Amino acid sequence: MIPLFEHCPALQPQLPHTPLGEWTVPVERLQALEETRGLLGLTSLWIKRDDLSGDVYGGNKVRKLEFLLAEAQRRGCTEVLTYGFAGSNHALATAIYSHRLGMRSISMLLPQENATSVRRNLLASFAHEAELHHYRGFPEIAAGTVWQMLRHAVARGRFPMLIPAGGTNVLGVAGFVNAFLELAAQVEAGACPLPNVIYTPLGSCGTAVGLQMGARLLGLDTTIVPVRVIPELYANAKGMAALHAKVVKQWQRWAPAFRNLETSAGFAIREGVLGPGYGQYTQAGVEAAAMLREAAGIQLDGTYTAKAFAALIEDAREGKLDGKHVLFWHTYNGRDLSRVTEGIDYHRLPRAFHRYFETPVQELDGPLRGQSGGREGEAA
Ligand SMILES: *Cc1c(COP(=O)(O)O)cnc(C)c1O
Repeated sequence: MIPLFEHCPALQPQLPHTPLGEWTVPVERLQALEETRGLLGLTSLWIKRDDLSGDVYGGNKVRKLEFLLAEAQRRGCTEVLTYGFAGSNHALATAIYSHRLGMRSISMLLPQENATSVRRNLLASFAHEAELHHYRGFPEIAAGTVWQMLRHAVARGRFPMLIPAGGTNVLGVAGFVNAFLELAAQVEAGACPLPNVIYTPLGSCGTAVGLQMGARLLGLDTTIVPVRVIPELYANAKGMAALHAKVVKQWQRWAPAFRNLETSAGFAIREGVLGPGYGQYTQAGVEAAAMLREAAGIQLDGTYTAKAFAALIEDAREGKLDGKHVLFWHTYNGRDLSRVTEGIDYHRLPRAFHRYFETPVQELDGPLRGQSGGREGEAA
């Protein structure tokens, strides 16, 4: 049984869940980094390896999809429709795992700065039979949603289930409440100390809100540090508090155990590492990724985890983490997708996506992936 249902059995009949990932995800000490370059002055640095959360595709979205896709199955849907930027890890994870469950996903995508990972995710989504649509902006994607919902309802006799961007809603957040309980069980078993602080990237906010809820549920005072890597419009303390309140309200209807979660402690978002914009790699991120790659052979991505890790390093160097047990929650996929994408000609994708293959990737993409070793499934 998953830790969330063990902790709160009343939730189980209410919250559909289907196993997709590889649990328990290991937690490891980054001892080499604690000492690197006289560096961080940290005495206790750990990493939660959600990069290994799935057998073919890992990362944080697997945890959310166990609840989201279970709901789609419960409703008898054969299709799900979801959102993201062109290189969305969430859209790809949804394509892969819905396909595995015999469903099909429709990806509604917005423009993104070009990168190798954008190409790879598009090809891998296509390989898993996702239906891909590219929109220029918000009015187009809203109109596109209405059109696609109708078109698919007519073709299939039923609407696809809508999954919001990043898989963040009342169901998806459950994945990260459960994730914190999973970590707490590891702490209990002596695998690592209880973290005083957990760093994680902040996108659609489900990861950070779920982790914080998990900590509150257990009455632990672990501080979650969500590192904003997306414009404030998408991720801000107000939105996080609203999401928290919405989840708690729904869950309270299901189980009284959630009474103690009513007030969110407020979210202290770590700002300052976004750089020029979402999906635009930064020098600090490239350097942070290189440090982790050299010390532990673990690969970060430029959009999310490299920036979040850069924030951790900066804070450590400034002495803000002295004497603390620090945990970095790795949210990016660590599985090699090259076999999935090999042999797929991008010309088979809808025309609007060709430009990602016909224009160069951003300059910091190469250094981010490293010259040797640690190369994860990038498109050839
Ligand atoms: C989606 C994503 C995030 C952001 O998680 P949210 O729950 O959306 O805030 C972080 N890292 C990676 C690699 C992601 O794909």
